[in-house]
Amino acid sequence: MKNIVIFGPPGSGKGTQSDKIIDEFGLAHISTGDVLRAEIAKETDLGILAKKYIDDGQLVPDDVIIGMLAGKLDELKNTKGVIFDGFPRTTAQAVALKEMLNERETDVAAMISLEVNKEELIDRLLKRGKASGRSDDNLETIEKRINVYHKQTAPVIEFYKMEGTHYPVHGVGSVDDIFSDIAHIISKA
Ligand code: AMP
Repeated sequence: MKNIVIFGPPGSGKGTQSDKIIDEFGLAHISTGDVLRAEIAKETDLGILAKKYIDDGQLVPDDVIIGMLAGKLDELKNTKGVIFDGFPRTTAQAVALKEMLNERETDVAAMISLEVNKEELIDRLLKRGKASGRSDDNLETIEKRINVYHKQTAPVIEFYKMEGTHYPVHGVGSVDDIFSDIAHIISKA
């Protein structure tokens, strides 16, 4: 399996680039944010719990996310590989992902880290909020999410640097140019 982590702050283009990776490489996709929003729409216990954190711009607790992901991985065991989008968001999640993949005799081939400056992130997320109506795409929550990214999520970069699989990509410019950098990395991974 060729498993890819697509990483970056909120608004860095993880979802947009995931769609293109799926088309080009035929990988399966797990977006923890999409899974949580589906649970919220179905009003499950998990959804009700997650909504409190999401609307406050905070991370859903690690044990909840890791348990949710383990179930999804088993559904995808016969695929060519998986794109992890929005996961891992803490070092504990990165360690858990490594363990879960190793148990299934696979690993992360590349962690692609999209680099976008804060002004651009805020601009993109405010625009997205107008179209998507996402409850967390308002200025106050966006700023909280970016702070949470720097405090809790950015340290994940160090984990993948140690693993030797961290690939930074400049995430500002045309979607196709950014994708061409990503495709080059995935082809070689
Ligand atoms: P996203 O759609 O990836 O921007 O995620 C939206 C929100 O879902 C985040 O701000 C978090 O509250 C929650 N979330 C998504 N993925 C995770 C994760 N891996 N760990 C913790 N919380 C998450």
